[in-house]
Amino acid sequence: MGYMWICIKAMLEYLNVEVVVPPPSSKKTLLLGVKHAPEFACMPLKLNLGNFMEAAELGADTIVMAGGCGPCRFGYYAQVEHAILRDLDYQYQLVVLEPPQKHIGELLSKIKHITGRQSWRRVINGIRFGYHKAEAVDKLERMAHYCRPRETKAGTTDRALQNALKEIIAVAAPEGLPVALNRAVDIMKAVPLEKNRPVLRIGLVGEIYTLLEPFANQDIERKLGSMGVEVDRSIYLSEWVNEHLFLGLVKNTRNSKLAKQKAVKYLRHFVGGHGLETVGSTVLYAEQGYDGVIQMLPFTCMPEIVAQSILPRISSELGIPVMTLIVDEMSGEAGLVTRLEAFVDLLARRKQTREVLA
Ligand code: SF4
Repeated sequence: MGYMWICIKAMLEYLNVEVVVPPPSSKKTLLLGVKHAPEFACMPLKLNLGNFMEAAELGADTIVMAGGCGPCRFGYYAQVEHAILRDLDYQYQLVVLEPPQKHIGELLSKIKHITGRQSWRRVINGIRFGYHKAEAVDKLERMAHYCRPRETKAGTTDRALQNALKEIIAVAAPEGLPVALNRAVDIMKAVPLEKNRPVLRIGLVGEIYTLLEPFANQDIERKLGSMGVEVDRSIYLSEWVNEHLFLGLVKNTRNSKLAKQKAVKYLRHFVGGHGLETVGSTVLYAEQGYDGVIQMLPFTCMPEIVAQSILPRISSELGIPVMTLIVDEMSGEAGLVTRLEAFVDLLARRKQTREVLA
């Protein structure tokens, strides 16, 4: 899921657990998953299945996966994937980390199982280390969102981001992280920008895996950046870790509480995944003066289908254009680019007209 591997790898290696990072998701990964997954499973299951098959080729023997207990299918996915892998003769051991608010004792015993004889103090330091890496990655991604539409030479932001991330990845212990982050921030600050260039601002909302994984969303942030759009995501990695692992106890720049409050007028109960946050974040983006919102979801994603049905009302009541993009293994890049170009064009003309009338 995007750069999540950076913080999980750091945390586990700090605790002396050997980590196998599968190759980045690709067409091959998706085809492997599609071949063996139920057709109507959502795309994250198919991609994860492919990831596990590719990781097995590199020697992985244990899967550590998050669990869930909401109304969407995610809570079953670890078991379903494990059963499919077993049928295909993969000898994986499965460890499912259920959300702490439901099974705190079970979660702790599973962490102990993975980390072996490490003291609790070191385990906590390892978790904190992984979390701080996630925060560092988020900071760099936010900087990239700002730089892309303003860069004077195409592609410099992406190259800088990759170099900056290398600084974060290379750090093996918590003490080294602040210095590495300073170096990484300096790399991003060195991107030549035209700061006064007018840009559009679009908020990205939707299903978390699709939002965070560039292969799943066909690199939408980079594509929009090259069209002169500054994007913001309704959820970042460290926020997700904070909410799911730390029960929202860390004071984050933003948490989903506010989005949930904003959603109340339109949706009053949990519908699974991040459906509620999608509704609330769209309201927030409208209030913050964003030019438009794009919702992304995998085909058949239940929570986001609920949210999708509500977004037209928010769009007309709060006057913010909203476009929904649904992705699956049949999605083509040209179709996505055409829709993005049309949406961006519409937003630019709308903004121009408003400025003339103001
Ligand atoms: S939130 Fe949507 S995409 Fe994610 S597991 Fe649930 S149904 Fe699938």
